[in-house]
Amino acid sequence: MSRISGNLQAVLRSIALAAHQARREPADVALLAVSKTWSAEDIVEAARAGQRAFGENYEQEAVQKKEEVCRLAPDIPLEWHFIGPIQSNKTRAIAAHFDWVHTVDREKIARRLSEQRPAHLPPLNVCLQVNISHQGTKNGVAPEGVLALANAVSALPRLRLRGLMAIPAPEDDEEKQRAPFQQLKQCYTLLREKGFRLDTLSMGMSADMVPAIREGATIVRIGTAIFGARNHDDT
Ligand SMILES: *Cc1c(COP(=O)(O)O)cnc(C)c1O
Repeated sequence: MSRISGNLQAVLRSIALAAHQARREPADVALLAVSKTWSAEDIVEAARAGQRAFGENYEQEAVQKKEEVCRLAPDIPLEWHFIGPIQSNKTRAIAAHFDWVHTVDREKIARRLSEQRPAHLPPLNVCLQVNISHQGTKNGVAPEGVLALANAVSALPRLRLRGLMAIPAPEDDEEKQRAPFQQLKQCYTLLREKGFRLDTLSMGMSADMVPAIREGATIVRIGTAIFGARNHDDT
């Protein structure tokens, strides 16, 4: 078995275990393989081992790799998720090349993505990035602004609002890791009570996947535990 497929199976086992411990169905926690900085060959290896959803942070890198992956493995249908910060001048490419965007945090970007989503594609699946712990990254809408942004995004014809996403500041302690995930879940529950039909909580990475699943993650975004440590990591 290759290194990547071995890692992939270990991650799927950890997800299943964490789900069971949280009395949840393992099938309700989807694995997004974060392939930023890794090659098209690595992605194909994961795809041949059964992985279908891939997350990328940099639009140019992603578009190039996606074309190469299509050449190498035209038989495998993959799903592409954009999980990096979004500059306005990148929205056209993102709207054309991705199935999901997890990092919508302002109305202007949402409007551009909706306007630029090509007509032959289904609406773009969108999560709102929430700045839950007010530290680490400065990206994300403040919790107080989530409702207004959700209203704006759900009015856009070419976007489909699916849920919320967060990247909490790193913590070693599992108790400290839980708090921001609980807060994101509260935001999510509140929006659902207001009538938004959300089904996605994108939270949890290699180092904090278990507490995220315990608090209700429906997508975990895992890079290092599948592909290995990145050697130039600037995110
Ligand atoms: C890089 C990245 C991940 C994956 O992080 P790992 O610690 O390698 O699992 C998840 N989400 C986002 C937004 C990222 O940028």
